[in-house]
This record gives sequence, structure tokens and C-alpha cells, in this order.
Amino acid sequence: MTAAPFSPTSTRRQVLLGLAAAPFLPRRARAGESGFDVVVVGAGVFGGWTAWHLVRRGLKVALVDAYGVANARASSGGESRVIRIAYGADAIYSRWARASLAEWKALSERVTLPIFHQTGVLWFARRRDAYIEASLATLEELDVPVTVYDRAGLAKRWPQIDFSDVAIGFLEHETGALLARRAVQAVVQEAVSGGATLLLDKAGPPTPAGDGVRIPLASGEAIDAGVAVYACGPWLPKVFPALLEGRIVPTRQDVFFFGPAAGDRRFAPGALPVWADFNDGDIFYGLPDLESRGFKIAHDAHGPVFDPDTGRRHPDRESYEQVRAYLARRFPALADAPLVGGRVCQYENTATGDFLIDRHPTIDGVWLVGGGSGHGFKHGPALGAHVADLVTGAATTIQPRFSLATKETHGRRAVH
Ligand SMILES: Cc1cc2nc3c(=O)[nH]c(=O)nc-3n(C[C@H](O)[C@H](O)[C@H](O)COP(=O)(O)OP(=O)(O)OC[C@H]3O[C@@H](n4cnc5c(N)ncnc54)[C@H](O)[C@@H]3O)c2cc1C
Repeated sequence: MTAAPFSPTSTRRQVLLGLAAAPFLPRRARAGESGFDVVVVGAGVFGGWTAWHLVRRGLKVALVDAYGVANARASSGGESRVIRIAYGADAIYSRWARASLAEWKALSERVTLPIFHQTGVLWFARRRDAYIEASLATLEELDVPVTVYDRAGLAKRWPQIDFSDVAIGFLEHETGALLARRAVQAVVQEAVSGGATLLLDKAGPPTPAGDGVRIPLASGEAIDAGVAVYACGPWLPKVFPALLEGRIVPTRQDVFFFGPAAGDRRFAPGALPVWADFNDGDIFYGLPDLESRGFKIAHDAHGPVFDPDTGRRHPDRESYEQVRAYLARRFPALADAPLVGGRVCQYENTATGDFLIDRHPTIDGVWLVGGGSGHGFKHGPALGAHVADLVTGAATTIQPRFSLATKETHGRRAVH
């Protein structure tokens, strides 16, 4: 799936700094803006990669975002994201993660500052449970290199972690961490360099127009296009309330960054992989001190329902105390490490955690793409290719797990 790079019209440095490269600066829609083959609404990781793949297929694409590429409210707007291939029995996501990893690595090679850090991903758990068994079976089937450790092996290899209640761990060698905001900026930059038009505006719900669709914009203008892909992340239920309210539920998620002592390299990439403590399904996870921004840690449990426009983005004391207590137990050398950063983001959860990639049920030419459910970022490249295949007719089958019909309003999280 790895594709040849576009020939960029702006320098790599401009891309990374989000600077003056003229084609990359979003603009407002012009009156009667039309003639696009596809309008993609939402320049997060899903919309960005969708636009990228559509441009590569030679289509005329507009990419519209209300707040800007990987903005501070977007689910894709964080500092970093984990890319791992283990997904328990959900091999469909393992396959997508593996395909996406190749694309992320290729993108990272094309830009100046890294997007992908191959730190490895270490999973560990109190017992060798069904999730671990299924993950290892899938990784073997996919030929993904891993090393399995018992408690003594883990303690020897990573003495900075307290594994006293842990029975088993495994290290994925080829995966690691993505620099999220930078990654989305880079992929959108490439889409724009390849011919996509980036617009800063808020799209409303589509209406049929001739052979295509009309997308009204908050500025008062409208765009006509053959097809519209709504990849609005946690905003999807706001654009399509009758269809998606309760089917995609944004929840508040707090993440924290702690500062290792000066000169202490035990928590830096190289010494520490990305890690996830499966903890009987109550997952804590973290990333090493990437680019000296701090050791990142979060609890993966769903927080309260959250409004992505107006939600208060001050990290919460209760979440802070929870990760602090975990940190002191699992990473004793960081027990007193100072907090150097905190962020509030949101997951956009479907009932099971499966993505939504399907046609709008009543408006021809409209696609609904989202439901990243706290694990979507890594899949951006494969998801974008899949959506581009569906939009262009290269693929015709809606994957049942991604269908609107399977999106319940109540459910049990099944994908981790
Ligand atoms: C704290 C946290 C940690 C996570 N960790 C991981 C991880 O380690 N690994 C992983 O793979 N995934 C992770 N995820 C999940 C992943 O980040 C998301 O699934 C993914 O970023 C969703 O991308 P998206 O493009 O669907 O949505 P978004 O990034 O939210 O993009 C949607 C865009 O649509 C725009 N928009 C909305 N409405 C409109 C409108 N009406 N008109 C125009 N534009 C509009 C918004 O401005 C926004 O830019 C994490 C998420 C969070 C919050």
C-alpha cells in the first residue's frame, strides 16, 4: 500500500511548522464553490488520510475543517498516539494497523522531523488471559516479530518498571509512537500539495443537489460535489443528530505528562518502549519521554460525556490522583516526578468500539466515517485507503462491523 510521495510545493520545514506554505493555508469558500468530485468534512486523521488517498486517485477534493487541521479540540490534535498491532481477537484491526504502519513509516521518512518513533510496544498483564493468547496468535499469523517475557524477564529487561503483580508481557518490536498533530499536518500538507483545496469553515448537513450533494457552510456559502465524506470525529452526532446521537458518544479523557529528573534516561525512547498494562481490561498506558515533552500516562477508561466544542479542557484532579497513584506503584522512580503537562481530549465512542464507515441511509453520495473510539489514530492510512476505495467504487462491500446498522445506542466496549 505504500505509495510514492507527492512532489511538495512547499518546503518540509514549512510543513512541519505549519507555516507560510501558501497552498496549505486554509481559506474561506468562494461563492458558488463547486466542481469538486469529493468534499471531505473534517481534517483530522481520518479525513486527512481520506483526502490524501482520494487525491492520489486523481480526484478533485475539498477538505473542510471548522477549526483547522489537527486543532486543539480535535481528537487527532494531541501530542502523540500509540501504534501497536496487537488487538486480541480483533484481527481486522491488527491487519489495518500493520498496513498503516508501513504508511506512517513512509510519511515519517518524507518529512524532516520524525512522525514515527520505533520504540516498540510492551504489553503486560497479571495473567495470560484470552486477550494475550489471541494477540499472540494473530501476531504470529501476521509474522509480526514479538518477544514474550515472564515476570523475571520483564524485570531484568526494564528494571525501571515494577512488575511484581505481573505474570506475562510481550514486546512488539516494530511499532511505537506517532507524533499525532505533526502527522496530520504532514498528511494534509501532502494532500494539498497534490491538489486538494483546504477550507476553514463549518459544514452543515448535506442535501441532495442534481447528481450530487450540496454542503452548506457556516459562512453562508455552499459547496456542490459528487460525493461528501463526513469525517467529523466527535462532532458527527452534532451534524447528524437524528442518526447518530447516542450511537457515537464523545467522552472526556485526561492525559498527563510527568518530567523525569534531569539526565535520567530510563524513561526516554530507547530505554523505555510505549507500554500498556492490560490490568484485566482496566488499561493504563503510556509513552516514553518523546522529544523531552514528558513521560505520558493515561487511564483508558471512558470518562464522562463531553462536548467537543465547549467542554472544559482543564485536567481533572481525580484523574490526576488516579494516574499519580498508578505511577508511584508501577514506576517508583517517577513517584515524585513533577507534572509538566496535561491535556483533555475526547474519545468518540461507538457502543462496541468498532468504527463507522458506511453510506448515509437516505442521501445518496454521502459517507459517514468516524467512531475512532480511542484507538483510531493508528489506522488513518488504511482507513483512508478503504474509504477512497468505497467512494470511487473500487470496493463495494461495507464491512459489517463498520456498518451503521451495527451501531447500537447501548453496548459493551469490545475492542481494546
Ligand atoms: C486522549 C486520547 C488518546 C488516544 N490514544 C490513541 C492511541 O494511542 N492510538 C490510537 O490509535 N488512537 C488513539 N486515540 C484515538 C484517536 O486519536 C481518534 O480515534 C482519532 O484521532 C479520531 O480522528 P477523527 O479524524 O475521526 O476525528 P478528529 O480528529 O476529531 O477530526 C474531526 C475534525 O472534524 C472537524 N469538524 C467537526 N465538525 C465539523 C463541521 N461541521 N464542519 C467542518 N469541520 C468539522 C473538527 O474540527 C476536527 O478537526 C486517542 C484519543 C484520545 C482523545
